[in-house]
Amino acid sequence: MARQFFVGGNFKMNPGSVEQKKNIIDILNQADLDPSTEVVIAPPALYLIPLKGLVRKEIQLAAQNCYFKTSGAFTGEISPTQLVDAGIPYVILGHSERRTLFHETSEFVGNKTKAALDASLKVILCVGETLVEREARKTTEVVNAQLQAVVDILKDTAYWSNIVIAYEPVWAIGTGKVATAVQAQDAHAEIRQFLKTRVSESVAETTRVIYGGSVTAANCKELGASTQPDVDGFLVGGASLKPEFVNIINAMK
Ligand code: PEP
Repeated sequence: MARQFFVGGNFKMNPGSVEQKKNIIDILNQADLDPSTEVVIAPPALYLIPLKGLVRKEIQLAAQNCYFKTSGAFTGEISPTQLVDAGIPYVILGHSERRTLFHETSEFVGNKTKAALDASLKVILCVGETLVEREARKTTEVVNAQLQAVVDILKDTAYWSNIVIAYEPVWAIGTGKVATAVQAQDAHAEIRQFLKTRVSESVAETTRVIYGGSVTAANCKELGASTQPDVDGFLVGGASLKPEFVNIINAMK
């Protein structure tokens, strides 16, 4: 079964008012975008609702994080049900910046993933190894452990139809050091193998595994080429705020 190409833009906590963010929104609204690619943008939470009203309807919104409780005394957090209530369909969970800077464990990411899916959100689940781990040839071990923590919490295989896995090697995020097409393909094939053995063959075949880490207009075509059959799209940070995001969305065109 063909998997729909997916491109996400993670705006992170980058500066800019709604007015400034309108620049990239205007570019996206006017661009000739490949209709066969699913496109999602993730602005800071404060901008989700205004940008939802400004961006063309084919482009969906994602939060950059959420908590695992529905409501209560959790100052500063946003619940999955609140995102659904605001009409936001996606959430990014497990981004390496959250794992590293905010000490999110894989178990915590698993709990948040289940809560988000239970609330009917779709999840962009980020996994990836550090440079030290890659150099120690531990990429598969690290990524599998991150995924296993989610598998342990999601008992029902049906959950996986609403998950997109983002393989984001930490050493490639925001560094300009993109993985080679072969490195990305190899890691994605390992992830698919993990899904096949630990979840199910059909989940392995249908789940989209996207690559993130210094994707640009210059490298996206090679990363997404048919010689990389397990690369189903991209999660883009820095370049998602630039006009070249259009070229990345259209990488398969
Ligand atoms: C990201 O933040 O998910 C990311 C991939 O960032 P960048 O594209 O800037 O490396």
